[in-house]
Amino acid sequence: MNAETMKIIETTMENLKANNMKPFFVEKKEDVLAVVRTLIKEGDTVSNGGSETLKQCGIIDELKSGRYNYLNRSREGITPEEVERVYRDTYSADAYFASSNAITETGCLYNVDGNSNRVSAILYGPKSVILVCGYNKIVRNIEEAELRVKEKAAPPNTVRLNCDTYCAKTGKCVSLSKLGREIPDGCRSKARICCNYVVSAQQRHIDRIKVIIVGEELGY
Ligand code: SF4
Repeated sequence: MNAETMKIIETTMENLKANNMKPFFVEKKEDVLAVVRTLIKEGDTVSNGGSETLKQCGIIDELKSGRYNYLNRSREGITPEEVERVYRDTYSADAYFASSNAITETGCLYNVDGNSNRVSAILYGPKSVILVCGYNKIVRNIEEAELRVKEKAAPPNTVRLNCDTYCAKTGKCVSLSKLGREIPDGCRSKARICCNYVVSAQQRHIDRIKVIIVGEELGY
């Protein structure tokens, strides 16, 4: 990692802190777990949003370890009704894990969801929110965050989730040309994963949101 990138990470962390979010930095994905273990304790009720980054950092395996009361929406044999129950029980969890679609250098989080259980838990409910993000998620501002989602995050996610969308077939959002002028629209797919666009700026609840930035490219 060069000095310029490190400077960008430092600026982002300073601005997250100014926005009442608690930033951490680790160089490698293998270092994330040690930080996470300082933020939760055995017996805590924990849950998570869908995230490749969490898998890459070993967080999902940690949640499954038996040391926590894990609200696992992906366990084998779970019914749709039980998944819905997990989503609702998550609002009273001790800690919620996810990644962020983008982090701006100005200290804001930008997230876009379809079902929106993830963004809603980030906004309110779990006592603590722990977001793990590769440094590739850092962008200059909200405009770049919008672009990042439409060009880099949503298309591979729709492929991964087997969604029948324009971006899954073409690699780009159907409404890319409208960005910056209105909430991106034009995608009429029932499988659309961009339904709620959420910016998290200065927080009222100090340090409820923790952001662990990793000095590696992770996730989408
Ligand atoms: S709005 Fe539709 S086409 Fe555009 S990125 Fe989201 S899912 Fe893909």
